[in-house]
Amino acid sequence: MMNSPQTPVLITGGAGYIGSHVVLALLDSGREVVVVDDLSTGRREAVPGQVPFYQGNVGNGSLIGRILTEHGCRAVMHFAGSIIVPESVERPLDYYQNNVVGSARLLRACLDNDIEKFVFSSTAAVYDGTAGGEAPMAEDAELAPANPYGRSKLMTEWMLRDIAAASNLRYAILRYFNVAGADQAGRSGQYTKAATHLIKRACQAALGVLPHMDVFGDDYPTPDGTCVRDYIHVSDLAQAHLAVLNYNGNGDRNNNGNLTLNCGYGHGFSVTQVLDMVDRVARDMLGTGPMQRRMGPRRAGDAASLIAATSRIRATLNWQPQYDDLLVVVTTAMAWEKNLMDVMKA
Ligand code: UDP
Repeated sequence: MMNSPQTPVLITGGAGYIGSHVVLALLDSGREVVVVDDLSTGRREAVPGQVPFYQGNVGNGSLIGRILTEHGCRAVMHFAGSIIVPESVERPLDYYQNNVVGSARLLRACLDNDIEKFVFSSTAAVYDGTAGGEAPMAEDAELAPANPYGRSKLMTEWMLRDIAAASNLRYAILRYFNVAGADQAGRSGQYTKAATHLIKRACQAALGVLPHMDVFGDDYPTPDGTCVRDYIHVSDLAQAHLAVLNYNGNGDRNNNGNLTLNCGYGHGFSVTQVLDMVDRVARDMLGTGPMQRRMGPRRAGDAASLIAATSRIRATLNWQPQYDDLLVVVTTAMAWEKNLMDVMKA
């Protein structure tokens, strides 16, 4: 039966940053999981040893079918995918191949194996980031992705809606805002060395892994001129996935058990505020002075402000964020980054 703790959940991309934190959250709650990951960007060591692990691609229908049958999975959480916006502009077909064709093949295997629930990692990049000004973005805001990455995610959302209308499969589409931080116990974090994300890079700059920090534009129509984002701690995001898994559609009159939810805290911080916090954490944790900041031009495609409207997720799920505090987000990110550095030196 669906949602029985006895039925393992298949997690694609479970060796990646967000997927590995979801694996930990599910295990901590007593659920069983199975991971498939092609290790193109994920790390084998991000998956605890007791978890059944298959190295392979979600597009490999026979592998996925075999895993679903062997483990008796009823639910699939799909994290595997390509996620770098500038790369998606340079190599769009790779993004449509990995994210759209890969998801289509995975969904075929899910339908063939009577999967009941499919949880999909989508993104705030499906919205028209320039539309809202500083207002929080609601789920029914206009969908107008600005790059191939966002379009590949939106195309998969459309596939899911059509498939759910024509089958017993129910979906949960989770649109992530800016995910940051690391497991508080240090069990996982963001491994990717060449990460582009602000908090990861700022921690690298504070630790001397990067020589300085570039600020991409200070002439935006925001209070201090730098871009504002809604940073959600990865472990709170993982808990939202667990809550989605336990959601049974009770009282849900409108969408037949399907969900589309923003994942964020509903408030934002500017690049300057984030860098100030990283300096503070570096001073307290490492005893170092402020990082060098270089003001630079705007980065192509950046929206001034992206903040999640969170009334839907709060009303729908039994989800209580534990880490809605920039100090905690940055502290866990810094601890992880420092640990990575120490491991590399050893
Ligand atoms: N940013 C920056 N310097 C960096 C990385 C990011 O100024 O080295 C800015 C970026 O322009 C954006 C914000 O930080 O305004 C968040 O960027 P990130 O890449 O973390 O996430 P995005 O919102 O693009 O998904």
